Amino acid sequence: MIQITMPLNFLGTVYREIRQALIDMGDMFDLLGQPAEVTDAPHAKPLVVSGGRVTLRDVTFGYDAARGILKGINLDVAPGQTVAIVGSSGSGKSTIGRLLFRFYDVTGGALLIDGQDLRDVTQDSLHAQIGVVPQDTVLFNDTVHYNIAYGRPDAGEADIIAAAKAAKIHDFIISLPDGYQTTVGERGLKLSGGEKQRVGIARTLLKNPPILLLDEATSALDTETEMEIQAELKAMGQGRTVITIAHRLSTIADADLIVVLEDGVIVEEGRHDALLAQGGRYAHLWNRQVEEEVV
Ligand code: ADP
Ligand code: MG
Repeated sequence: MIQITMPLNFLGTVYREIRQALIDMGDMFDLLGQPAEVTDAPHAKPLVVSGGRVTLRDVTFGYDAARGILKGINLDVAPGQTVAIVGSSGSGKSTIGRLLFRFYDVTGGALLIDGQDLRDVTQDSLHAQIGVVPQDTVLFNDTVHYNIAYGRPDAGEADIIAAAKAAKIHDFIISLPDGYQTTVGERGLKLSGGEKQRVGIARTLLKNPPILLLDEATSALDTETEMEIQAELKAMGQGRTVITIAHRLSTIADADLIVVLEDGVIVEEGRHDALLAQGGRYAHLWNRQVEEEVV
């Protein structure tokens, strides 16, 4: 008996682990649009997050040797701070997020969390401590419940509902034929961009990580929903380190630090008011958006 059940249990565990790993990988590819190229170092240790300080020390990076993308980035995000990265499309903002998640290793310099070089920590421990809300949330062909809970499979019903409420998706979910048990994704009910994004936000709220990476997290939402969810994201950011890549500048005006990235270089940094007064690149981007919103 034992000889039969043990291997079966073992296989069950392995199967679940493989499945979870595939889901994690699949999700992560889609989260950041990139394949994982990096593996754990033999000496890798679990990342220990004390405060959540994120440090980029003279980081250079290119997807291929021929073309540098990040050209010497220095950035120190103190524990609990919110830092916003802005800049035109293609300037390298999402690339910083991919390096933080260690989809790639830096080409030069170092990226550290609480003093630990990301190359020295296990990927699992790193991914467990960072919550990513990406531009496009990918849903699994599974229930809404599963899709919200998968970052924390042990979560109870009440926690899942609380997260869904905070992400302003609960009312929508209970209006579905099978509520939280409704199958969504390619082979199930297709959700709109904004609905998917709110599921993604609920997922991250539930995961409750010490470090948050928001990559244009609310870009698929209408302005009103965006404002509501920004308030939730802000509440979630309290006491955490937040790196937010901003699409709409009005959502990051109260960040502790704003850095303006152009062509892989930080060209300006400071707080909103100071950057506006400076009349440089940030002020230009800001004024352009103000004009667009008035029109
Ligand atoms: P942003 O988020 O600021 O719009 P990204 O960080 O996504 O910019 O991209 C920065 C640059 O890197 C762009 O020129 C983009 O085309 C390039 N890039 C992004 N991903 C890859 C990749 N996998 N391979 C090669 N180049 C890439
Ligand atoms: Mg981007």
